[in-house]
Amino acid sequence: MVVEEFLKEGRIAYFSMEIGIRPEMHTYSGGLGILAGDTLKSAADLRIPMVGITLIHRMGYFKQELDPFGRQIEHPDPWDIEKYLSKLDVKVEVMIEGKPVYVTAWLYVIESITGGKVPVLFLDTDIPENTSEDRTITHFLYGGDLQYRLKQEIILGIGGVRILDNLGFQINKYHMNEGHSSFLTLELLNKFKKPIEEVWSEDLVWDIDKVKDVCVFTTHTPVEAGHDRFPYELVQKMLGEPVPLWLIKKLAGDGMLNMTLLGFNLSEFINGVSKKHEEVSEKMFPGYEIHAITNGVHTYTWVSESFKKLYSKYHFGWANEPEIFVRAWRIPSEEVWNAHVEAKKHLIDYVNRITAANLNYDTFTIGFARRVTPYKRADLLFLDPDRLAMIGEGRIQIIYAGKAHPQDEGGKKIIQKIFEVKERMKDRLKIVYIPNYDMEMAMKLVAGVDIWLNNPLKPYEASGTSGMKAAHNGVPNLSVLDGWWIEGWIEGYTGWAIGGMDETSDTRRDVEDIYYKLSNEILPLFYENRSNWINIMKSAIAMNAYYFNTHRMIRLYVTEAYIR
Ligand SMILES: *Cc1c(COP(=O)(O)O)cnc(C)c1O
Repeated sequence: MVVEEFLKEGRIAYFSMEIGIRPEMHTYSGGLGILAGDTLKSAADLRIPMVGITLIHRMGYFKQELDPFGRQIEHPDPWDIEKYLSKLDVKVEVMIEGKPVYVTAWLYVIESITGGKVPVLFLDTDIPENTSEDRTITHFLYGGDLQYRLKQEIILGIGGVRILDNLGFQINKYHMNEGHSSFLTLELLNKFKKPIEEVWSEDLVWDIDKVKDVCVFTTHTPVEAGHDRFPYELVQKMLGEPVPLWLIKKLAGDGMLNMTLLGFNLSEFINGVSKKHEEVSEKMFPGYEIHAITNGVHTYTWVSESFKKLYSKYHFGWANEPEIFVRAWRIPSEEVWNAHVEAKKHLIDYVNRITAANLNYDTFTIGFARRVTPYKRADLLFLDPDRLAMIGEGRIQIIYAGKAHPQDEGGKKIIQKIFEVKERMKDRLKIVYIPNYDMEMAMKLVAGVDIWLNNPLKPYEASGTSGMKAAHNGVPNLSVLDGWWIEGWIEGYTGWAIGGMDETSDTRRDVEDIYYKLSNEILPLFYENRSNWINIMKSAIAMNAYYFNTHRMIRLYVTEAYIR
């Protein structure tokens, strides 16, 4: 069997509801999944023994169509599983609603040019042994209702541990990437149960410390809705009592089963994804010791073709040692600019091919692309469209992309608002919204725009990673001081801040700041002082890309969380 080579040494099992490895595999929705994929890619490069576990998501997240009014239409987004994965000869049983559901797994192997390899297991219930309803459990990422989500999380957590055991993996640590996989702790409680004859009360068979010893939990968002909660009635109906209810309630909260609390209470090491997010999480969950390991991106994945050539010319070995970027200032400015022009041309040609936007090569281009949800404030730039046109007419063009979750009405309205302004301002500003944002489009965007804009409502951006991708391509950030940018921001060197360091956002002030900096600092620099503009591009590489990568990040997980 193909997995055999991975069974010889102990591994860290990395559980994530989504893992985004390549654009053709529709197993991710956004930041969380891309981070998971980038993490496992760095592990492969650095030969860190890990194994990824996720669901197969046969129908993807969704394919986004936008009508002329910016109304989002969602389509299933299936992908060619057999082309990328190999089916494993494995089958385990998980009880849901008192009936067995059978789970199998498919294998993808991340192979690094260093020779390192990391296996990723994709759990699948779409097999003939299951009822037609159960076969759909692993179809839609973040689809369906609460009950559907609960079933998926049972398969991921409990099914995942059983699949690993059944295949013969030796697991040293279980890393829960967000609370979706927290049920794995219940499976471990059962696995590590003390023999009844060794304890003096039945309640004491549960070895919480032993489970804690092998568990690591990463929380990813200060947004309440990002923390799954299930009513105990539903849990009992679907899951039964793999461990007694009193114990689950003790670990996961009294009123509802809180997946984050369950993970927290059974993990020796808990972390947030930036220093600021650590503070915010400690306030959200008083009494827990929460650490900070700031996110990164996989350098080789997120550097465009033209910058790959450039880096290879001046900084041999950069892909497996991104620290080398600390010397990026030595790259001749002209060559940095040429590499950017190539990436920008690639993007503009692409946008002009698929839309009627008719963007220009020479115009200052602002990029904004990410999940569309109210706290990200995608329409903030348009608080005063006339003012924006006054500053930017003939001088700026703006590219948007992003999907709103099918149930996020607020997010969907924001897309419509952008379409409205786009139409209203069409004679003065070139604005384009590209449908169906994915990894491939993200690559073109982060490398091809001149500035990367991020203006979330504080303190909701736990980290953010798209700005790190931009920095890897010499694209400076213009961003609210939240998440990673607090750590990466050096005003006028790596980019610009929107607003100050206050705990919460002042919308009016944020937008004033954007307009002010665009018209007084950023545009004059771009158009009239190109050599200083290129210096900022080089600083973004030297001071941001050298640090905000998953190579640095995974090493910190190893020394802070996995080996301790
Ligand atoms: C990087 C990435 C994200 C995350 O973007 P943030 O700005 O960090 O929210 C989302 N979607 C895709 C396709 C990405 O590549």
